[in-house]
This record gives sequence, structure tokens and C-alpha cells, in this order.
Amino acid sequence: MSKEKYHKARKRFGQNFLHDHNVIENIVANIQIEPDDHIVEIGPGKGALTKLILLSGVQLDIIEIDRDLIALLKQKFEAAENLQIISADALKFDFSSLPQKNEKIRIIGNLPYNISTPLLFHLFENFSCIQDMHFMLQKELVERVCADPGSKKYGRLSVMSQFYCSAESLFEVDPGSFTPSPKVLSAVVRLVPHSQPPVKVKSIINLNKIVTQAFSQRRKTLRKSLKPLISEEKIEALSIDSSLRAEAISLNDFAKLSNSL
Ligand code: SAM
Repeated sequence: MSKEKYHKARKRFGQNFLHDHNVIENIVANIQIEPDDHIVEIGPGKGALTKLILLSGVQLDIIEIDRDLIALLKQKFEAAENLQIISADALKFDFSSLPQKNEKIRIIGNLPYNISTPLLFHLFENFSCIQDMHFMLQKELVERVCADPGSKKYGRLSVMSQFYCSAESLFEVDPGSFTPSPKVLSAVVRLVPHSQPPVKVKSIINLNKIVTQAFSQRRKTLRKSLKPLISEEKIEALSIDSSLRAEAISLNDFAKLSNSL
């Protein structure tokens, strides 16, 4: 009996397996794999993307949480010499342990939608060892990552993503491309860590603190939402209008606010 056919998708692991070959090929084409690349795939599932990437001959590490899928992947790809199969929770995994010498890793994945946001934040912590990331996410999440100030989608995820990376939405994917079909539209995003930070920040912890606080009450003005951290006078002294809401504040102004803490 084929293990692949009889693996029942597990909701708790956000399993929606890609079966649409056009989408699989489009994702891999967008990664533009080079011979010396070291690719890391999060959540390989039954290996839809894995199989195609292996053909390029590059070093590929795959990280999967579901032990049944690990067994299936070991069987399916036992002959692959350029593959390392890692049985682990990507949320707890130390990605900085993977690069060899001075190389940077390229991370890809059709991510489990239930953990995408914490996973992105976990990866941002390791951004210095990452060359780029290509992820399938909920379309809504991709819009939030890429949103500009003034947009309803602009929030903590937008500010922190754009602090670490440049973000580009590549293409949308219909629910029918997956088994089982998710209830939402999906999209593929490219994230490239900045070589130089786009703004000067004394402490990333403080930036995160101020952004989290500002968006925790996003309908309130800055003078109210930031009151526990910074006074109205201090906000105005930075030439920032304290009657604005968080969604109007640029990354540059968030940096100024955090540097004054
Ligand atoms: N890449 C496959 C595909 O496109 O068909 C599967 C994608 S499926 C949306 C997400 C995959 O991530 C599943 O295989 C699931 O078991 C795995 N996964 C879920 N949570 C994980 C975690 N914390 N760490 C590693 N893998 C995880």
C-alpha cells in the first residue's frame, strides 16, 4: 500500500498538499536556483516541491514536523545524496546551524498557515544567515507583509517584515491547487533580507515593543496607545503628529520613536 496515497492530511499541522504542477513549477522557477545554492525547505509534506528542487542537484535540507511524513520522505528520496531530512519543529529550529562556512541559506516553503506569522518572526531573528525566502502564504498575510502606511492591512507584521526584508508578492494561487483545498486564497511572496538596515535602530527589542504597543490599539491615536511607553510631548518633539493612528506611521518614524525609549 502506498504510504503517500494513504496519508490523511492533518489539520493541526496545516497540511494542504500542492498537486498543481504549474504552480509547483512556477514557484521553483521564481527561486532561480544556482548550482552553489544551499536550499532549506520548511514543511516538505509529501515532497511536491522537494522532488523538483532535488533535480537541480543543489544541497537541500528539509524540515518536517510530522513523523509519518518523515518516514514517507525517507522512503521516497532514499537515493538522493544531496538531501538532508530533518525531523523537527521549524518554530524551534536553529536555522543558523545550517549554513556551511560563510554561505547563506535560501529558505522556501508552502508554509502551514496556522503558524506562518510566528514562523516569519522566528526567521527574522536569524536573518543574517539567510540569502532570501520564497513562501506560499495566505494571500491576506502576503498583503499584510507588503502593505504600506495608510493601508488597512498595514500593521506590526508589515513594519517588522519591512525592517528586516524587502518584500514582493509574486503570484496568487487558487484553493483548487491543493489537497485538501484551503478556504482562503494563497499567494507566493519573495522576502530578501536587507544588506543594510533601511533605518537606524538602536535596539530591535525597543522597535518591536513600540510597534506592538502602537498596533495593540490600532484605532487609538499614538498619544493614547503609546502613553505607557512615551509621552505626547516626546512624540511631538520628534516631529511626529501624536494625533495620528499607528497605521499612518512609517517605519522611519517607528524607528525614531523606538530610539527615544
Ligand atoms: N510542501 C508541501 C506541499 O506543498 O505539498 C506541504 C505543505 S503543507 C501546507 C505544510 C507542511 O508543513 C506540512 O507537511 C506540515 O506537516 C508541515 N509543518 C507543519 N507545522 C510544522 C512545523 N512546526 N515545523 C515543520 N513542519 C511543519
